[in-house]
Amino acid sequence: MPRNRVVVVGAGVAGLVSAFALAARGLDVTVLERGAAPGGKMRQIAIGASPIDSGPTVFTMRWVFDELFAAAGRNFSDQVRLRPLEILARHAWDEDARLDLFADEARTIDAIGGFAGTAEAEGYRAFCRDTRRIYDILEKPFLRAPRPSMGGLIGANGFRGLVQLPHIKPFSSMWSALGRYFADPRLRQLFGRYATYCGSSPFLAPATLMLVAHVEREGVWSIDGGMHGLARVLADGAIASGATIRYAQEVSEVLIGSGRACGVRLASGERIEADAVIVNADVAAVADGLFGIHARRAAASTPPRARSLSAVTWSLVARTDGFPLRRHSVFFSRSYRAEFDDIFGSDTLPREPTVYVCAQDRDDGAAANDGEERLLILINAPPNGDRRSYDAAEVEQCAKRTFGALERCGLNIHRRPDATQVTTPTDFNRLFPATGGALYGRSSHGWTASFQRPGARTRIPGLYLAGGSTHPGPGVPMAALSGRSAAASLLADLTSQGWSLRTAMLGGTSTR
Ligand SMILES: Cc1cc2nc3c(=O)[nH]c(=O)nc-3n(C[C@H](O)[C@H](O)[C@H](O)COP(=O)(O)OP(=O)(O)OC[C@H]3O[C@@H](n4cnc5c(N)ncnc54)[C@H](O)[C@@H]3O)c2cc1C
Repeated sequence: MPRNRVVVVGAGVAGLVSAFALAARGLDVTVLERGAAPGGKMRQIAIGASPIDSGPTVFTMRWVFDELFAAAGRNFSDQVRLRPLEILARHAWDEDARLDLFADEARTIDAIGGFAGTAEAEGYRAFCRDTRRIYDILEKPFLRAPRPSMGGLIGANGFRGLVQLPHIKPFSSMWSALGRYFADPRLRQLFGRYATYCGSSPFLAPATLMLVAHVEREGVWSIDGGMHGLARVLADGAIASGATIRYAQEVSEVLIGSGRACGVRLASGERIEADAVIVNADVAAVADGLFGIHARRAAASTPPRARSLSAVTWSLVARTDGFPLRRHSVFFSRSYRAEFDDIFGSDTLPREPTVYVCAQDRDDGAAANDGEERLLILINAPPNGDRRSYDAAEVEQCAKRTFGALERCGLNIHRRPDATQVTTPTDFNRLFPATGGALYGRSSHGWTASFQRPGARTRIPGLYLAGGSTHPGPGVPMAALSGRSAAASLLADLTSQGWSLRTAMLGGTSTR
């Protein structure tokens, strides 16, 4: 009997997770990826012989991957070497004001007490309690649910759901809610930064997003081989379960026949028939017609003003001195309000950015050697890469402001032009078409935003969506959950249509 054929468009984390889960259930899965490697945003840039993670760097919620591999009869820890970080991140405001957050809550309470006083440490204790509660309320009915629904959120918990609603704080902004825990503006800024993990401004995002703080407290790991190594492990898992991955294959159309998705056409003209298609590109690309006019109605368009943050990144190998970097270090601007007003209000690069530095040769301690080290430096930027280009002069001006902000906090980075690669919103828009360079789908501004992300099923039978622009949202583990959800929805639909599913089979091919 022929196996059910599934095409997955895109080898981002969600596409890979879908492919892995479906191949492990015996479906005939082909992943088509326009790039040359798996991972999508989990990409690596080579500076000389040094591969640098140039997308996500903070790995959390490992249980998502533990469960994925367990469902395929494998052990995630056998595939990757993960090291828990004791210091979640080091934060700096100037040469003197520095604060580390630790995985151990008691150590963080002490650190905050030393940094800002006992009242702030007590505020942090309350913050931990409340963010844990937000996470607990939302995990099952929202994060693990196939699609976002307020009814589902309340319904899953019955009357308790209604009573719990105020606890998830959907109607206050993150910034104002943080003011109830912290009088020190630096701590408000530090914890407000978690809104940017969803590509949003802390002044506009609901306080619900404070749950990200809880997610980080539950564990941040470094991965041997980097985050891109995780993408390779997922690709290998999918292949070992029987999937085929074809790189450098751009899909130009999702084919619709008799009202349902029945395959794809590649830019080369090749047609591939399928019983179902999962699209892992940004939903904006579907809505904008990049997969053909018929597929457009599978997704609602994202107006440019509803887009999430973009970024300017520098991937480089350089010598550093003057500041004891940890793996994750954040250097704050003097006015967070001005920074987000520049980005979302004036649609410009921030005049004074907050700068994130990932020192990829470090964990909790110093770099392995005293010479050059691998760095990813990131600032937030407006998602306007489809409307304007960033010329060399503007990028250099932005670099001066960015590296100047680091110097203000004591960090000198001796960058060399030949060992630095810059990525702007224009570049991100080229890599992820129809997004303007927005890296997290729609922004999470306002309490309804999270309910506007599409779920896995679309209005077109046989066509599914997966990725950071869909429910439950952006970030590597969240996108992975969306991939799992797309696979589960597809399997449920096939079974309800009377298709028989074979059990897992091993073997497979790759054109990598
Ligand atoms: C700089 C940066 C820093 C980040 N930091 C973090 C972090 O620290 N922690 C974290 O958890 N998350 C972080 N994120 C977010 C996280 O990387 C993303 O949410 C997640 O990786 C998105 O995965 P995805 O499944 O949506 O696929 P994507 O990564 O968006 O991949 C989609 C894939 O589809 C392919 N594709 C698109 N169109 C076509 C087509 N027509 N034909 C064939 N293939 C196509 C693309 O080439 C791409 O490979 C960061 C992102 C960036 C960019």
